[in-house]
Amino acid sequence: VPIRERKPPWFKVPAPGSPRYLELRQQIRDEDLHTVCQEAACPNIGDCWERGTATFMIHGDTCTRRCGFCNVRTGKPTWNDPLEPARVARSIAKMGLRHAVITSVDRDDLPDYGAGIWAATIRQVRKQAPRCKIEVLTPDFRGADMPLARVINEGPDVFNHNVEVVPRLYPIARRGSTWERSTRVLRTAKFYGGDRLSTKSGLMVGFGETVDEVVETLKLLREAEVQIITVGQYLRPTERHLPVIRYWHPDEFKEVEERGMALGFDHVASGPLVRSSYHADLHVQQDEPG
Ligand code: SF4
Ligand code: SF4
Repeated sequence: VPIRERKPPWFKVPAPGSPRYLELRQQIRDEDLHTVCQEAACPNIGDCWERGTATFMIHGDTCTRRCGFCNVRTGKPTWNDPLEPARVARSIAKMGLRHAVITSVDRDDLPDYGAGIWAATIRQVRKQAPRCKIEVLTPDFRGADMPLARVINEGPDVFNHNVEVVPRLYPIARRGSTWERSTRVLRTAKFYGGDRLSTKSGLMVGFGETVDEVVETLKLLREAEVQIITVGQYLRPTERHLPVIRYWHPDEFKEVEERGMALGFDHVASGPLVRSSYHADLHVQQDEPG
């Protein structure tokens, strides 16, 4: 029996349907691409696509890990498409995006953990859509430095690796990953990327953590030299996923934002509907249009 969880009123958003939204949806269909916006049924889709921001998922739709909150299919991936980088880049160019977020499933099955396709995708986007900012939201590449260096060397504007939950919940919610490895990836990315790269991470709340615990987590991320933070409410995709222990009140998100900013981040976006890529374009300097 499906579990009906009544969401608080602040989750109501208008249904998408603007001409630009419909046009982008058709283009994505034509290219046979995957967007997280659609597959995660993200409530911000109308808003983001109207602003010229979208999140693409590369490396197929099957992940080698199984996180307790995630609705992506798990198993042995078979996806292998060397032309995917060029197709993603062509779509980004055709859609006229100002800020593209690229993410992927974890590919622990590949010798380079997928870094080659990652690097080629960034390269292709730079070539086909030179004005578009590129934000990469990557796996941890099992903590290996070489795949990470390959990605950073292509010069993305933002490197994002989400910790997703507070350290205490890693063993429950993020099997196959560790807090130490995630924060090391973020620290190493900043080391390789230097001043030209902004580093970013994010987490979801609602698994039973407190405001203080989240602020403590942000402190650890600041120590790992992370510059941009997102904090949003976890919504349970199906009854097979971890339950929502509590819906945080907008005031609590506000408190996290204020206390987070006091820790010295460049940006902290914290709110019920905030997703890793929500308003991502506002967190980096945009070139003048024209
Ligand atoms: Fe897509 Fe991210 Fe915006 Fe959601 S928040 S619609 S996933 S770009
Ligand atoms: Fe989902 Fe990422 Fe976890 Fe894979 S590693 S199950 S895509 S959150």
